[in-house]
Amino acid sequence: MRIAFIGLGNMGAPMARNLIKAGHQLNLFDLNQAVLAELAQLGGNISHSPREAAQDCELVITMLPAAAHVRSVYLNEDGVLAGIRAGTPVVECSTIDPQTARDISQAAARQGVALADAPVSGGTGGAQAGTLTFMVGASAELFATLQPVLAQMGRNIVHCGEVGTGQIAKICNNLILGISMIGVSEAMALGDALGIDTKVLAGVINSSTGRCWSSDTYNPWPGIIETAPASRGYTGGFGAELMLKDLGLATEAAKQAHQPVILGAVAQQLYQAMSLRGDGGKDFSAIVEGYRKPSN
Ligand code: NAD
Repeated sequence: MRIAFIGLGNMGAPMARNLIKAGHQLNLFDLNQAVLAELAQLGGNISHSPREAAQDCELVITMLPAAAHVRSVYLNEDGVLAGIRAGTPVVECSTIDPQTARDISQAAARQGVALADAPVSGGTGGAQAGTLTFMVGASAELFATLQPVLAQMGRNIVHCGEVGTGQIAKICNNLILGISMIGVSEAMALGDALGIDTKVLAGVINSSTGRCWSSDTYNPWPGIIETAPASRGYTGGFGAELMLKDLGLATEAAKQAHQPVILGAVAQQLYQAMSLRGDGGKDFSAIVEGYRKPSN
């Protein structure tokens, strides 16, 4: 299948690699020329705009930082909707607010194009391994069309309901993640300060009731999980700026629904402070640095 893939960052690049491995031909677009050159070596075809990428393809996938990027990539005069043929399905995988997903879907529908929102969970490791969870908001018919391709990048492909519901699921999941990472950071730092070996502590937590993804897969303490960003200087994972964005989406959606998200609001402020310190580009698990003595 010829697939346009737009947005080739920490997540998009490994997802695109898996599609190339599965035998698809990819039209690639990103603002970062280095990643385009790297993927072209694997057989991808470099496009010069989202519009060019979307022409003559059978599916469009986008994986961009935030809603503003998604709007411009779809709606600009050089955007996806300027190039796409009627009837070509589209999957928008970025984490954005549900209303932007619905707005872009409506704009696409006016051109005879059906769009699904399909944000993901599983981190960069899941993107590389092809084990992501996709939370899909789409008609039943579009979901059935997309499922086989998404299964080449992920393990759990969940139909959440109509367009926008994928984003609702994602926002709720990341509300937990942002909070749980702070909880694990506090516990690991407290244990260290009180004098327990942090590897022993992590082992106890991971076989006890404190266990969660933030403790057993992505532990924020360096040296606990070899593959976690904490063990490589908090690089190459899920940026704190992106977590801050997701908690902003959750608190904003909660405001509209008159729903309290008390811990979510506190967590948002902690990531905001991290961003202000100049650490927004680090992986979000570097939130633990606020609890550690600088000499540690
Ligand atoms: P990233 O910043 O690493 O990558 C984004 C890519 O989009 C970059 O390569 C950038 O050059 C490109 N881009 C920006 N504007 C563009 C434009 N106008 N046209 C074309 N390309 C453009 O981000 P990421 O970590 O890959 O995350 C992408 C999305 O996935 C975000 O919405 C994020 O919240 C979500 N997400 C990330 C993770 C994670 O662990 N990193 C996990 C789940 C979901």
